[in-house]
Amino acid sequence: MALSPFGVRAPTSTTMTPERLDRFARHIVLPEVGGAGQARIMGSHVVLVGVGGIGAPALQYLAGAGVGRLTLIDDDVIEPSNLQRQTIFTLADVGRPKADAAADWVARFDPALAVTAQRTRIARYNAAGLVAGADVVLDGSDNFATRLAVSDACVAAGVPLTSAALGRFQGQVANFAGHRPGHACYRCFVGDAFDAEDCDTCAAQGVLGAMVGMVGTFGAMAALRVLLEGVASLGDPQWGELHVLDGLKPSLRTMRIAQDPGCATCGHAAPAA
Ligand SMILES: [Zn+2]
Repeated sequence: MALSPFGVRAPTSTTMTPERLDRFARHIVLPEVGGAGQARIMGSHVVLVGVGGIGAPALQYLAGAGVGRLTLIDDDVIEPSNLQRQTIFTLADVGRPKADAAADWVARFDPALAVTAQRTRIARYNAAGLVAGADVVLDGSDNFATRLAVSDACVAAGVPLTSAALGRFQGQVANFAGHRPGHACYRCFVGDAFDAEDCDTCAAQGVLGAMVGMVGTFGAMAALRVLLEGVASLGDPQWGELHVLDGLKPSLRTMRIAQDPGCATCGHAAPAA
């Protein structure tokens, strides 16, 4: 197979059944995605950290895009107060583990997708095994300790990270390739101070459903850019560019995160092969 003009990774196959071609026709006709891009999406594995306010809408668009393999990590159970923003759950799901209910949603939505529910809290001791082999990890978790553990594991495993976060009406979305030489990781951005601290939670701060939905779908878009790198023109991950969404104005601004040479995670990373 010829190399893609955008890079070195080529899709493993572009053959699709007529049903799949029809299902994803609107992607395939987009010049920025195309058949090769759709094949890449279908051959990809995305790990979602958290299927809550950010993860649930992100999951809807990633599953809708046909991401072939999804791993859903969450140790929470669904509460009635989640339904205001966690769009895949219904009243009948209250009391169920979020990971299980989210996996059931995927199975109903598109049985062709492989989905794994991980009813666990991702942390430093288990993160390496949970992110291994992913094409991208989308982190929509709600605290810095988890985010740093996930980021450190991604850098160690050579896995790209999409970070999507919300504080009241400010969303922050960025793609990180901390495993690549010269690229910032999430720790370069936030530093070491938060390893043991939880940030303020939705329960304390409040959260508007539509706002966190914007951040979740923004995160899905960013993850798709990672998956399409080297295959389609949408595949420009914009590594280390932090997109800050002000939901009140609304406005969007972008800033570049520089690699911290002293970063404990990526500062002395060996050049990637
Ligand atoms: Zn770093």
